Amino acid sequence: MARSVLVTGGNRGIGLAIARAFAEQGDRVAVTHRGSGAPEGLLGVQCDVTDADAVDRAFGEVEEAQGPVEVLVSNAGITRDGLLMRMKEADFTDVLDANLTAAYRVSKRAAAKMVRARSGRIVFVSSVVGLLGSAGQTNYAASKAGLVGLARSIARELGSRGITANVVAPGFVETDMTAALPEKRQQEILGQVPLGRYASAEEIAGVVRFLAGDAAGYITGAVVPVDGGLGMGH
Ligand code: NDP
Repeated sequence: MARSVLVTGGNRGIGLAIARAFAEQGDRVAVTHRGSGAPEGLLGVQCDVTDADAVDRAFGEVEEAQGPVEVLVSNAGITRDGLLMRMKEADFTDVLDANLTAAYRVSKRAAAKMVRARSGRIVFVSSVVGLLGSAGQTNYAASKAGLVGLARSIARELGSRGITANVVAPGFVETDMTAALPEKRQQEILGQVPLGRYASAEEIAGVVRFLAGDAAGYITGAVVPVDGGLGMGH
């Protein structure tokens, strides 16, 4: 049955691949954007996820257009890399706000309606870096690790209401970001990935769609790595 899906940061990158994966199977899909608009076939709602009022307004628009959100994918995220000793406090708190506090904002807003419906699916896009750590990314890794605690607590709080909360932890994904890395760095990264290649955004999207689907009805509080084996054992 077609459902109402919202993907934050679904206007481009991995979020767009996720949004398209749901749209392909006939779901009604909305994506947040910060002024770029939404690609063809998707409902665009303007929203900066660091702004609680904007989040509330965006959910209102989605509810009006396609019904209460039944599947929430919290995907929007930023990096502001730097070594700990040089990292400004704002670089730490801004990343936490966009990647973790925003995930709390959107899941809280979605949960209100999901509880009433006694069903719902929430998927958080984390990163292998949240499990392994990464030099130069204390802020980003902390935010991505925080999503695991957030998801597992939601899984416990709302499991009895038919709501699941899971985490997808991608490794390196073929994006503009990875393409821009120097050849030497790319080879170093790929040397640590058992599958010896980057993921495509579609390979992340497929797992998110699975976790939101009927076949994953008994999966909650899980952290699913989609990392070519990079984080094995964590
Ligand atoms: P991109 O940089 O390509 O896209 C980021 C998305 O997040 C954009 O849609 C952007 O919107 C949105 N966004 C950022 N900040 C905000 C905000 N404050 N409010 C609303 N939207 C915001 O990233 P990717 O597609 O590569 O990454 C998507 C997710 O996957 C992120 O959470 C990232 O941490 C995670 N990830 C990515 C990996 C990779 O290799 N690329 C690996 C592991 C995890 P806008 O267009 O307006 O800027």
